[in-house]
Amino acid sequence: MDVVLINSPLFKDTKVNHNVDDYLPPIGLGYIATNLKINNISCTLIDAVSENISFDTLLQELNRVKPVFIGINIFSTNFIITKEIIEFISFKTTFIVGGNAVQFLHKEIFDFITSNEIFVVIGDGELITVDIVQFKLKEDPIAARENRFLYRVDNHSVYFPKNISNMQLDRSFFRNEPTQNKIYNLKEAAIVTSRGCIYNCAFCGAARKLNKHSDVRERNIESVINEINYLENLYNSLESIRILDDLFLKNNQNIEKASNIFLQKQNLKWRAMAHTMSFSKSTQEDINKLYQSGCYELSIGIESGSEEILKMIHKLSTISTIVNTFEKIFKAGINVKGYFIYGFPNENIDDAEKTFILASKLKDLANKYNTKFRTSVFQFRPYHGTELYNSLSQENLLYQETVEDYQLSETIGRTQFNFTSGNYSNITQSDLNDYIKRTLELNN
Ligand code: SF4
Repeated sequence: MDVVLINSPLFKDTKVNHNVDDYLPPIGLGYIATNLKINNISCTLIDAVSENISFDTLLQELNRVKPVFIGINIFSTNFIITKEIIEFISFKTTFIVGGNAVQFLHKEIFDFITSNEIFVVIGDGELITVDIVQFKLKEDPIAARENRFLYRVDNHSVYFPKNISNMQLDRSFFRNEPTQNKIYNLKEAAIVTSRGCIYNCAFCGAARKLNKHSDVRERNIESVINEINYLENLYNSLESIRILDDLFLKNNQNIEKASNIFLQKQNLKWRAMAHTMSFSKSTQEDINKLYQSGCYELSIGIESGSEEILKMIHKLSTISTIVNTFEKIFKAGINVKGYFIYGFPNENIDDAEKTFILASKLKDLANKYNTKFRTSVFQFRPYHGTELYNSLSQENLLYQETVEDYQLSETIGRTQFNFTSGNYSNITQSDLNDYIKRTLELNN
């Protein structure tokens, strides 16, 4: 095997009650795998998250296959595990490391204790990976030290995919597709139609100002419809498309584009991410049209019910904008999955209470229109390189890497996606856990 690409495990052990809805299929790795295959490079994709593969099993498999190249993604949440994987491997190989956080972690990655070569790639990986494994790189690294090389793929790089409408994606790399959407009981496949976000949330690694040298790109309507047609042919009785863009509905123009795409696919339902401000210029008719096109759920980051916190994290919405916008969405018949975060730096108990009150109010509003409002709730984690991470770092307040949060898992019964990087708020940990639990219980 020439190349093994790994969707890195989030935890060392396997997990029961795998929460499939919070799992995001590794479409980005799929694009890299497809480009390697097109260039006759043998490649396999191990999805350690969806296949629930433990750290030890993954190492055994890599030791058995001994690939010439190992591509692996690193995030703030799995940095320690990925470091250990790289450092535990003793056979000769070359690592290609990517993922959202590497632009802020490359110094630490250069210091990983391994004699193996490491290429760190910031940005889109599908074109540069082909040239790395064929030893045909057309650009110099932006930094290098012995057998460590750092590449940046942005607007200035020959490896930057300016037009993403022509990108091919070989679905055979995704072993668990189509998935069963257990919340709505729908057979579902995932697609990505754009790259990059236009907003600047202070806690998010996808924020525009952290990625300002990589243009936001969107696929054209024809390319998206072709992919949906392809999926319908591939998977018998497909019922739902999940759009995994960082932000699919960015503004009213995108809302219209989405309606026009899916009005042509009346036999399919779809769900995607939106921002409250995406609807700032939308009329009720615009949102009704989204529903008519098959949109059955929008995932929207609400984050907090406190105006002060919303301002601090640059969410741009006010509480009244959130309530008014959600009312229009529910009125149209569209369900919402709302994301909340407790424990922002300096957040106090009144802020947390306001968040819980807002979540409860949105639940009541959804009930009024006979729609569903479900919550997804997390504790604030400072992700590397984000505005909040940097300000905590400047004040020397960061005190721990992100690790699994066993206490929260026990409190709320969710076994996946519970991490902690410490508590930076003015609320006790037990009160934070209680708010997380109660906001999740609104789903019952
Ligand atoms: S809108 Fe979403 S993807 Fe964009 S910066 Fe905010 S949290 Fe990140």
